[in-house]
Amino acid sequence: MSIQKNSSIGTVEESQQSAVHLAEDPALLVFSHLRWHFVTQRPQHLLTRAAQSRHVYFWEEPWFHDAADPESRGRDGGWVEFLEVEQTPDVTVIRPHFNHGEDSIKGQRRLLNRFLSDRGLERFDSWFYTPMALSFTAHLHPRVTVYDCMDELSAFFGAPPELIEREKELFRVADVIFTGGQSIYEAKRSKHSNVHAFPSSIDLPHFAQARTVQSDPPDQAGIPDPRVGFFGVLDERLDSALISEVALLRPHVHFVFLGPVVKIDPAQLPTASNIHYLGSKSYAELPRYLAGWDAAILPFALNDSTRFISPTKTPEYLAAGKRVVSTPIKDVVTGYGMAGLVEVAGTALEFATALDRAISTGQDAEWTQRVERKLVESSWDLTWAAMRAEIDAVRDRKSKVVPPPSRWRSNHNCSSGSGDPFDYLVVGAGFAGSVVAERLASQLGKRVLVIDKRPHIGGNTYDFYNEDGILVHRYGPHIFHTSSQKVVDYLSCFTEWRPYEHRVLAQVDGKLLPIPINLDTINRLYDLNLDSGGMEKFLAERVEARTEIRTSEDIVVSRVGRDLYEKFFRNYTRKQWGLDPSELDSCVAGRIPVRFDRDVRYFSDSFQAMPSEGFTRLFERMLAHPNINVVLSTDYREAMGSHPSAKVVYTGPIDEFFDYRFGPLPYRSLRFEHKTHDTEQFQPAAVVNYPNDYDYTRITEFKHLTGQKHEKTSIVYEYPTDEGEPYYPIPRPENAALYERYRALASAAKSVYFCGRLANYRYFNMDQVVAQALHMYGTIADDEAAEFSIQIPARMLGSATATAQAAT
Ligand code: FAD
Ligand code: UDP
Repeated sequence: MSIQKNSSIGTVEESQQSAVHLAEDPALLVFSHLRWHFVTQRPQHLLTRAAQSRHVYFWEEPWFHDAADPESRGRDGGWVEFLEVEQTPDVTVIRPHFNHGEDSIKGQRRLLNRFLSDRGLERFDSWFYTPMALSFTAHLHPRVTVYDCMDELSAFFGAPPELIEREKELFRVADVIFTGGQSIYEAKRSKHSNVHAFPSSIDLPHFAQARTVQSDPPDQAGIPDPRVGFFGVLDERLDSALISEVALLRPHVHFVFLGPVVKIDPAQLPTASNIHYLGSKSYAELPRYLAGWDAAILPFALNDSTRFISPTKTPEYLAAGKRVVSTPIKDVVTGYGMAGLVEVAGTALEFATALDRAISTGQDAEWTQRVERKLVESSWDLTWAAMRAEIDAVRDRKSKVVPPPSRWRSNHNCSSGSGDPFDYLVVGAGFAGSVVAERLASQLGKRVLVIDKRPHIGGNTYDFYNEDGILVHRYGPHIFHTSSQKVVDYLSCFTEWRPYEHRVLAQVDGKLLPIPINLDTINRLYDLNLDSGGMEKFLAERVEARTEIRTSEDIVVSRVGRDLYEKFFRNYTRKQWGLDPSELDSCVAGRIPVRFDRDVRYFSDSFQAMPSEGFTRLFERMLAHPNINVVLSTDYREAMGSHPSAKVVYTGPIDEFFDYRFGPLPYRSLRFEHKTHDTEQFQPAAVVNYPNDYDYTRITEFKHLTGQKHEKTSIVYEYPTDEGEPYYPIPRPENAALYERYRALASAAKSVYFCGRLANYRYFNMDQVVAQALHMYGTIADDEAAEFSIQIPARMLGSATATAQAAT
């Protein structure tokens, strides 16, 4: 590939003449800190291959001019220059220009918007090399966002301090992350759920030319043999001291350096009569220089800026048939050194000795064969094909689940795709809504529109990777447990499971004790040494007899007596519900069993596990059916009018549906305070309850639930409140009576089905909601079958009923 600067300077309007590409993939918009025409590196290799199926726009960092510069005169506010790439018409390099002092962030945003609208580019993917570009691109809505993370940029000399924050942001918005090597992969893999290592690859035919080239380039011809060489950017990553020492130790060996000097003062580079700097060479010229070397070198310093590098030149040197000596850069050692393809040397003396061996050994058939085998597996073509497959996978996933952002705004007016209206409008993308939607689409072939007022699916179980890459539950800890095999079987269609038994400790009298109360709780609280029988006797002497168990106080004091009630339940419940346990139905505290053994599990169900890739991924799969459309950030009131003929499945609060006609049903809410700590573990159990201290009820540490390994840890505090999202229906007789009035309205509502925790005003767990939704689906299917049979003339009834039954 040869690249030539063939610049056409102009404004956005003037740029219309450049190629219009009609390929199957939408355009790729790349934002890069590396300049295309500088040194040929990973971006050029990958993006020229991307350009085989789409147009690539390569947006570089700005160039700045003095106001006196004739080029910039009269061009206040910036302009863009379009550069073509020879032999690759489907790559256009875009270079913004500004005068010193101009706001290049605002300026780039404006120039970019104009560029996109001039080109009519509404659909595109974006690809970032620099997270800094988010400062002017965050408003865009790419189909797929890729971050090709080549290096730990923040460790580079002169890196802007905000780079770390920007990268965190990019990890949040990117759909897929590629890393330029194994070490950087290890460093980033826990920060995102979709990270893939793609180490430096090789353009084998290009560098293999070095094996047959005869003539030396003129500036190299005068340098005596033996010669060893390096090509690439000359910057702070080179180990100048080592180079000087090795040159001194081997005065008869000549060291050739090709490449531009960047970021460092050229005077800092080592000098000696046997060290030669020949300046930048084009990619096309490199094999000719390489051909004249006896060995190649990677004399990198071992510091922060080289900790994660994966030098592309390693396979390039090898493809040219050169022996290579390198300092112990981790990816060189693991990728090549351990297989005996590259000599690794730590000190100057070792480096010099290794060079002696490399120069005298040259090539041999066995080594060459091993090198070839490694290199054919590492072509840029294969790397690009694998990257493209990852991008396509994201595209498929996103197109099935979440409609493009433009639809989020003009959302509910969308049609089912075939232009027909939807059969069902499902309000709420939590378990209740998603299960019913999935069944209707997959079993009855119904066209379903699912809407949610929140910007995500999953309802209260929604989980996501936070800015540190830790999987957290936005609305507090959700642990799956059930004794219903039917529910397990159904959900297992959409997820694998990670076995997990939940454990909770409560801080009481300065001790962290197991809750539910068990044998250990009693023994440790009271400094006893009872066995199960002893505990039974101990409690029997303390429990308060009740003729009727009506309230949460009744149930607890009748099971464990007053002291344990006071220590573990009374204050926790007052904090959590804003009510005394005597004012709450027994079902609330009755959720917590009492155990006479040492079983420390919080739940007693036969199946206890977490979805192995999290709840949100489970929902993505559930809603992936082609008959289902999902529209987020939309209230049902906006959507109802647009789909008058659709039947409705409503999973929001029932009182809200009926405009609070009989007054609002009371709910208890929570304020969540999420925090991340720079330590591997924060507390000894997933949840620690604080019945008697603090304003919060409990702290959850998510890594216990998810099993994620990470050097940091994220926790959430729960502060109960009256205001806010309706999380908890409050089980009290008068609330149940009020709910009954709404339920009567609901039963009379035509073509509306009410399902889930809020629509039933019931303190349901997830599995109960899934079971109810499956049952609700059965009811709807029966109604459909009945409706179908009414529409069919009597003489056809027999066969029609059979068809309807088969469909369900
Ligand atoms: P939701 O998940 O609440 O979904 C209803 C959806 O409807 C919401 O996304 C909402 O945005 C949407 N909606 C509401 N009104 C409108 C409207 N007007 N327009 C559009 N959309 C609307 N269960 C367990 O099994 N284990 C646990 O460990 C557990 N822990 C919990 C911890 C907390 C803090 C809470 C609050 C609940 C917990 N649960 C747990 C219960 C669990 O969250 C519920 O059982 C389950 O999520 C209910 O599902 P749903 O679909 O009925 O409701
Ligand atoms: N509870 C308590 N002390 C505890 C744990 C629970 O008093 O240490 C009571 C409290 O009233 C709580 C109820 O038991 O609201 C149900 O607890 P659970 O952990 O099931 O609540 P959720 O997870 O639904 O918030």
